[in-house]
Amino acid sequence: MDITKISPLNTGYLCTGYQIEKGLGEKVAMRLIQPDLSFSDITFKELDQKSNQFANVIKQIGLQPQEIMTIYLPVGIPELYTGFLGILKAGGIACNVFSNMGKDALYTRLEDSASTYLLTKKSLYKRLKTIIDDLPSLKKIILVDLHQDEQDETEENPKVVNLQKLLVSASQEFSPVHNDLETPYVLHYTSGSTGKPKGVIHVQQAIVHQLRTIEEVLQLNENDIYWCTADPGWVTGTTYGITAPWMSGVTQIVNAGGFNPVDWFQIVQDQKITVWYTAPTALRMLMREEDKFKGKFDLSNLDRMYSVGEPLNPEIIRWVKKTLDKQIYDTWFQTETNAIMISNRPGLPVKDGSMGKPLSTIQPRIGDDQAQALPANKTGRLLVKAGWESMMRGYWNNEQAYQKKFENGWYDTNDLAYQDQDGYYWFVGRNDDVINTSGHLVGPFEVESALLELDEIVEAAVIGAPDPMLFEKVVTFIVLKNGAEWNRKLEIAIRIHITNKLGPIAVPLDYIIMNDLPKNQSGKILRRVLKANYLGEDAGDTSTMA
Ligand code: ATP
Ligand code: MG
Repeated sequence: MDITKISPLNTGYLCTGYQIEKGLGEKVAMRLIQPDLSFSDITFKELDQKSNQFANVIKQIGLQPQEIMTIYLPVGIPELYTGFLGILKAGGIACNVFSNMGKDALYTRLEDSASTYLLTKKSLYKRLKTIIDDLPSLKKIILVDLHQDEQDETEENPKVVNLQKLLVSASQEFSPVHNDLETPYVLHYTSGSTGKPKGVIHVQQAIVHQLRTIEEVLQLNENDIYWCTADPGWVTGTTYGITAPWMSGVTQIVNAGGFNPVDWFQIVQDQKITVWYTAPTALRMLMREEDKFKGKFDLSNLDRMYSVGEPLNPEIIRWVKKTLDKQIYDTWFQTETNAIMISNRPGLPVKDGSMGKPLSTIQPRIGDDQAQALPANKTGRLLVKAGWESMMRGYWNNEQAYQKKFENGWYDTNDLAYQDQDGYYWFVGRNDDVINTSGHLVGPFEVESALLELDEIVEAAVIGAPDPMLFEKVVTFIVLKNGAEWNRKLEIAIRIHITNKLGPIAVPLDYIIMNDLPKNQSGKILRRVLKANYLGEDAGDTSTMA
């Protein structure tokens, strides 16, 4: 699809009206699964009409192009999707945030973004009442679930808008705003794994790269039934749970229920999912409870799986092969890159533990301190040649931090990796997480992956802690399998395993047994929180902690 030939250039239109013109009006765009596994369908035509109505309502209440609307709604509320597309149609900038975010975390984002509109529901609005007065930029709060004639205390606030009431008279026709390739359309906050989340600005042109990733990596076609488990509060849920698949005319499953291993497999089986995109944390949780579903479901429609967000441990890839008889493909990207940059995919032989190879237009480099290229198999900074279509165009309110991400035309991902002799990229760790012990660099990922190979261990996180002799020592936090016991024998088994596999310098010197590891809402292990707790220091911004 050459988007410059499509008019209007508007992602909201490309996800809906454009699909109708392609003849997909009656096709199911979204199948919404309720926690009891009952479901309802929305066709592309209905998605178009409802997002048009929403666009008309927000225009009527005053939204101007380029104003920001924050969407604070749980997965599975249809207005999260129709609202998002309606905002884009009306020329606004949509900002999805996690609905399980507390009021302080939400306040930070609303204040930082100076959002003028907020789309939410009654119960969540009640959480916010005490902060609303401190947000002078906020003009309207649109509640999706007041009954159309409902009068209640929420309406005492003149800023509150009853969406259903206005939808009654809203037209199903709307002419989407024409954008330039460089018009901002999404503001997304990063996951906050390393500190305070940063607001990342993306422009319309990002969709060119999104579509390329659908073609080269996810390889979706119109017959696929596709399920991305990510919440749109995380970039994965916006790019791969809303825009990229719908621009490709694909039926998406949206699960309003949370994580539940049996329900998940029931959904995969009953909905005949063909392509399933999820994250390592969810997979590790599934591994932990495999007795509940192993061999009990027919997964014959499922063709392949994908993963993103954290490194995909080889042990998980092997488990998926052995237990589900499927291939899983790791994909690497960031909020700042908006869409997949390096990945495995059908047609490219998978090396378990490698992130795969770059997309056809993406030029990564493993660089030294001066951003100069390092030879094969040398660990260094993972850089990407600046200028790809979906590259962020700024950190909101922080031009200085944005400028610091670029060096001689190279974007610094802040991850460390190496490239092997065959051109495959291997993730080593985040720059801040890599451990410098006795003069060697140890990546937490390889130690964590090796730990997972032991039967007794289901999750592991590795950090470096100051040590007078070694400079930093390897410390590990371990979650044991149900029934497994921590004892001297297991510790010795770990020491032998890590020594054999990675060498003595990678052997953890300290072991902390946990019931669970702290994670953020995108499901990522918060190593900095573990480290701060271990060192008795302040953990910094923990607003994204799940
Ligand atoms: P913050 O930037 O606020 O600290 P974050 O980096 O976790 O949070 P995201 O943009 O959601 O926010 O995540 C991108 C990061 O996630 C990458 O830089 C990388 O560290 C990690 N990541 C994502 N996918 C993969 C992958 N396939 N393998 C290894 N790491 C990955
Ligand atoms: Mg980041």
